[in-house]
Amino acid sequence: MARILITGGAGFLGSHLCDRFIAEGDDVICMDNFITGSPDNISHLFGNPKFTFIHHDVTNYVYVDGKLDYILHFASPASPIDYLKLPIQTLKVGSLGTHKTLGLAKAKNARFLLASTSEVYGDPMIHPQQEEYWGNVNCVGFRGVYDEAKRFAEAMTMAYHRYHGVDTRIVRIFNTFGPRMRLNDGRAIPAFVSQAIAGEPMTVFGDGKQTRSVCYVDDLIEGIRRLLLSDINEPINIGNPNELSMLELALEIKVLLGSNSEIVFRELPEDDPKVRQPDITKAQKFLGWEPIIERREGLMKTIEYFKAKIAQ
Ligand code: NAD
Repeated sequence: MARILITGGAGFLGSHLCDRFIAEGDDVICMDNFITGSPDNISHLFGNPKFTFIHHDVTNYVYVDGKLDYILHFASPASPIDYLKLPIQTLKVGSLGTHKTLGLAKAKNARFLLASTSEVYGDPMIHPQQEEYWGNVNCVGFRGVYDEAKRFAEAMTMAYHRYHGVDTRIVRIFNTFGPRMRLNDGRAIPAFVSQAIAGEPMTVFGDGKQTRSVCYVDDLIEGIRRLLLSDINEPINIGNPNELSMLELALEIKVLLGSNSEIVFRELPEDDPKVRQPDITKAQKFLGWEPIIERREGLMKTIEYFKAKIAQ
């Protein structure tokens, strides 16, 4: 039985991690300041003796009583709408927040796992993206606040590993979807689903030919757990290589919902990556991991969640 600190634990991914580790019998301390997360995501865990919540901004000094086996640093605005609205907080949580939580890992002799992102590859010049690729990021563009914060966070994590001997892991997460995403977080799947349910026009950016590879949340959580329990210090891609265009994704959701919404095209946001697909050879080889949930099945579960939220 382990004792685990999860920063950003009230967010989409963090709350699923809380659930998973509690289900494994571990004690979970969730730390969050609700800047983009919500108490709704963890309300079912309040009162559970294995769950503790600490309301705290991790860019400030972080202290937790008692032993810690693992620290999972997931705190960060993550959707473009959020990080464009919160540019300084995004840079601070990636830099100061990572520094503070690494310091805690060092003090507690705890293993540290950083939630990084496929955005470290920027608008990629190689396809699919493998971990050795250094990326193509516009550091002064609007999206740079997120991409560079994560690139800094990775560099800081490796420095604590090499210089202080902290036992670290870095997961590069590719687009993930599932229950507990916010309907209005601006990401493609919540946007398409809410528009299709409402019968409103489904807004596709650019010509819709840009691609993404979307992973269902349960698959991602399994990959993260395997990485945490492995001995791999280098970054590892976790994502679903099943690539499709944004237009195909919109049409798939429209059909699943039997919606009459028309598809409309809007200007492509600045520095929007044209392609995105993980090379998961390393995850397959070193973690024995690959996604197993079909996109359609994951979309149905997500749609059910959004329908229930709208009905509330
Ligand atoms: P989210 O916004 O739902 O969750 C982030 C959580 O961090 C929120 O609960 C928020 O309140 C909290 N937070 C932010 N700043 C904080 C601070 N200073 N102190 C304490 N808490 C703070 O986003 P998510 O999709 O769950 O993403 C979680 C992590 O995974 C992020 O680090 C993100 O960069 C990474 N990631 C997510 C995806 C994805 O597809 N969802 C892809 C790549 C990387």
